[in-house]
Amino acid sequence: MGAPPPVIASAFGSRLVDVDGREYIDYLCAYGPVLLGHGDPAIREAVAAAAESGTILGVTHPEEIRLAERIRAHLPSMERMRFVSTGTEACMSASRVARSFTRREKIVRFSGDYHGHSDEMIFSAGASSNSAPAIDAGVTKATASNVIILPYNDAGAVERCFAECGAEIAALFVEPVCANMGLVLPAPSYLESLRELTSKAGVVLVFDEIITGFRLALGGAQSIYGVRPDLTCIGKTLGGGLPIAAFGGREDIMARLAPDGPVFQGGTFSGNPLCVAAAHSFLDRLENDRGLHARLDALGRRLADGARRAIADAGLDYPVVQLGSIIDFMFREGAPHANFDQARAADRDAYARYYWKMLDAGIYLAPSPMEVMFLTAAHTERDVDETIAAISRSLT
Ligand code: PMP
Repeated sequence: MGAPPPVIASAFGSRLVDVDGREYIDYLCAYGPVLLGHGDPAIREAVAAAAESGTILGVTHPEEIRLAERIRAHLPSMERMRFVSTGTEACMSASRVARSFTRREKIVRFSGDYHGHSDEMIFSAGASSNSAPAIDAGVTKATASNVIILPYNDAGAVERCFAECGAEIAALFVEPVCANMGLVLPAPSYLESLRELTSKAGVVLVFDEIITGFRLALGGAQSIYGVRPDLTCIGKTLGGGLPIAAFGGREDIMARLAPDGPVFQGGTFSGNPLCVAAAHSFLDRLENDRGLHARLDALGRRLADGARRAIADAGLDYPVVQLGSIIDFMFREGAPHANFDQARAADRDAYARYYWKMLDAGIYLAPSPMEVMFLTAAHTERDVDETIAAISRSLT
């Protein structure tokens, strides 16, 4: 964005407060994990209570097992799972277990999707990583040679790739709804095609639901689109703002992990009682407030409609895309973009100018046009209306 963004001292509800005491309505939401709002009182209480009995145990504890069972009730495809601390670890480990299961070496993923910053996931990825001038710096050719990058939303490209070398491919990673090159919805029947093609080729289908899990629905994007992956990665919202993530899926694949199988996977802080307590509190809220996603969607629509009006009033023709609490538009005209090449054709300089105008107006956006706007349960209609007015002024 040309200069560093304001440094943030604290956060509450829908707000960030910078070191000079200035308040912003937050749409960065820490890149996705904040779904109930900053500093949710129930989560704070749950974490404080858990801290009384030890913050780290290093050994499986009953609340960890109960959490896995609760998650499986919402995401039945996750027959078995492992907790880790970050989305990066979840995707990295999913890739290793898939390789061991299939005894194949290559993975396929899509440009513009983001699966964390491990070596094999980072090049050609979306999100803020795309702002870096040399995104593949530090990645060896050997690592890159095992990764095949295809365009998103193009089932034909996957079919051709599998026809050529399907027998060498261990896993296909996909964000079922991509929120890392702006917001890109899967084309009709795209996810079904990926399911069919991977099943036929014996490739492990991995849904990266680190953004979409719990944010779009308790059962994730897989419950909305009705496609069952072999493995799923979740994280972000699950911890209610604390670092917990998980990967899991088919029992026969997960059985490759030690001690049942040969694949090592570990993590000092994995499944620690504080993060697990936060996740329980988060799920309590989602399970007890079944109208939450519908309310978030209504607020999302209000923001998207308002942004559409503001864009039209400014004489522009940028498509606004919204799904539940995720809203996005890029500075490019025409139909909503469907892949990374189209996302990269958007006007970055215009986004940067808009970003600073919005900050001046008290709205905190992501400092990258590849990110999206996130709403939380703490955002109000007033926040949204104030934001729409700011969008209108900034665009003009
Ligand atoms: N997958 C997706 C879809 C993500 O959006 C992210 C983070 N932006 C990750 C994986 C990596 O998660 P983490 O930053 O917790 O390592």
